[in-house]
Amino acid sequence: MPATTMDQLVALCKRRGFIFQNADIYGGMQGVYDYGPLGVELKNNVKAAWWRAMIYERDDIEGLDAAILTNRKVLHYSGHEDTFSDPMTDCRKCKGRFRADHIKDGKCPNCGSTDLTEPRPFNLMFKTTVGPVDNAENIAYLRPETAQAIFTQFKNVVDSTSRKLPFGIAQIGKSFRNEITPRNFIFRVREFEQAELEYFVEPGDDEKWHEYWKEERVRWWEEQGLPREHMNIYTTPKDDLAHYAKACYDIEYQFPHGMEELEGIANRTDYDLGNHTKAQEEFGLSAKVHANSESTQKLAILNDEKKKWEVPFVIEPSMGVDRAVLALLTEAYTEEDLGEGNSRIVLKLKKHLAPIKVAVIPLKKNNEQIMNKCHEIKQNLLKLGIGRVALENTGNIGKAYRRHDEVGTPLCITVDFETIEQQPETVTIRDRDTMAQERVKIADLPNYLREYFLQK
Ligand code: ATP
Repeated sequence: MPATTMDQLVALCKRRGFIFQNADIYGGMQGVYDYGPLGVELKNNVKAAWWRAMIYERDDIEGLDAAILTNRKVLHYSGHEDTFSDPMTDCRKCKGRFRADHIKDGKCPNCGSTDLTEPRPFNLMFKTTVGPVDNAENIAYLRPETAQAIFTQFKNVVDSTSRKLPFGIAQIGKSFRNEITPRNFIFRVREFEQAELEYFVEPGDDEKWHEYWKEERVRWWEEQGLPREHMNIYTTPKDDLAHYAKACYDIEYQFPHGMEELEGIANRTDYDLGNHTKAQEEFGLSAKVHANSESTQKLAILNDEKKKWEVPFVIEPSMGVDRAVLALLTEAYTEEDLGEGNSRIVLKLKKHLAPIKVAVIPLKKNNEQIMNKCHEIKQNLLKLGIGRVALENTGNIGKAYRRHDEVGTPLCITVDFETIEQQPETVTIRDRDTMAQERVKIADLPNYLREYFLQK
């Protein structure tokens, strides 16, 4: 089990600019966080790794980037208006409101009172109105999952790409849930990002593909640096399944606060496309759907062999990007004892996830010749397309190494007097994990770094 505590992560994230409380200067907003200069890089790298695995490395998945504002009818027919809720209990004494499943021994988690109301459903969707008139007809929602737009755009994607089953549509974007008790830093928040794949398969093949995606996703997490032994596959009991699911696996990770869900992999059957399709009665749907959808399109696909139109089944791996960031930080955070009273914090992120790939550090502050060489090296490294290359000018090499260890920069390149005084020009490259240093010719840097960053 990783020994990292939430306090260590929260402190590092603030100190080094990964994650800040939203509206901090006004006392903050509960369950809402902002990603700082390094957090945005890390999050972008996580999303890029997911996108690459889903879209670029495969030939059966297309991408989508749909709107957050969601037509009320979509969330009505998807079942979210009626059922996307948590049972809530109010404490009559302290007036606190809690999720019923978070109440232990019938006592208020805040004040300990047993004077609690019966649980009542509380819808988690953020409601808003679109346009200047604030009436029921103009109600819209901020999407509670990215998936619905994938279903409503199903026909447009199929028509524009000529896809046949099995194939997927993947999307990364913000989702919003009015969580009753946001907590554990960025683990449970009200505004978060999801990376979701809806993988459409032949009815009857769904269980096979559900197993396939469970394995595939565990493999992906391992590639990002989470060891198998820190994860757990939880099979959701039938009674706890979401309103749309026939079966669901949760990939759980050993977070600092416990083994909890990182990603859900649900078998959503033909429930969603079935709900959003016109002429539902033509398809012999397996899921129990709303009758008479107002949809104007048939969300079905032609089975060439059977010469029949079918509503596909859907397997959905759905990852929380914020939970991914938290898991990866938990795993990477390391405190090392260097002996003689010295220690260091190292963020042992995989290199493709590191916010800064290379730091170029001058041995001496404000030395024009050394600084010019640093600028030149940085410009040349940028051409490699490896990601962010940071230029330092602090003049304290030890401090710069410590800072880059803490934010996970895999390599530091130091430019010293030898670099500018001797031919051929050389620099020192220092490795984050081993702290080993080697002298490399500037002319060899592009090949050296290309090879280094190509290795996983
Ligand atoms: P939980 O049981 O933890 O509330 P969920 O089962 O409702 O999660 P899903 O609807 O399956 O979650 O959403 C898919 C993924 O989106 C989750 O595995 C999680 O990583 C992420 N996610 C869901 N709700 C939140 C939230 N409030 N804050 C951060 N991430 C979230």
